[in-house]
Amino acid sequence: MRVLIVEDDDSIAEPLGQGLAREGFEVTRAATGAEALATDDVDFVLLDLGLPDTDGRDLCRELRQRSDVPIIVVTARSDEMDRVVLLELGADDYVVKPFGLRELVARIRAVSRRAQTAPEPTPVQRLGRLEIDRRAHRVRLAGRDVELTPKEFDLLAHLASDPGAVFHRQRILEEVWDAHWYGPTKTLDVHVASLRKKLGDPAWIETVRGVGFRLVELR
Ligand code: CA
Repeated sequence: MRVLIVEDDDSIAEPLGQGLAREGFEVTRAATGAEALATDDVDFVLLDLGLPDTDGRDLCRELRQRSDVPIIVVTARSDEMDRVVLLELGADDYVVKPFGLRELVARIRAVSRRAQTAPEPTPVQRLGRLEIDRRAHRVRLAGRDVELTPKEFDLLAHLASDPGAVFHRQRILEEVWDAHWYGPTKTLDVHVASLRKKLGDPAWIETVRGVGFRLVELR
């Protein structure tokens, strides 16, 4: 796996690159935003937000617009970046300096795994007793139609795109509702509650406190 380290501080980038190389990663480095944008064909980006020539947040957004490459943002504690903001920028995860190599490698592997195992959308998805037909916008539970509103359907289909994975609240609002959702986030809870009711068992949708929701496959 080819990892791009975007970091202007050699005293961080050097040992980090060596550590990742020891873990079996192929390491490429960029010390500026311009260099990072000129580097392609990498499998993973570690992005320091404090760069000399560009705002790391703009760079993150731009990298995300160009490709689906997983991005882990590296922030200094003083950046005080809200994790929601980072996710909005298109980052997959973040670590705060100082961080350990082991923690970072675990995050890289987790994010890569998520990126790779996102299943291809199939016309009819079966999750235990649940069937989601994206083409027909239809949901069946144990063989019986479940009447969902369009938003409820979109929400369920979104959570079902990666069963078991946690979806962040803000991401859900952006992707299911609007790219720039500034309304009350209670809307999401209302729809989750209604979906749980219609699916006949609240356990289908698990609340991950302080983060978001995940769909659980019930048998
Ligand atoms: Ca820096």
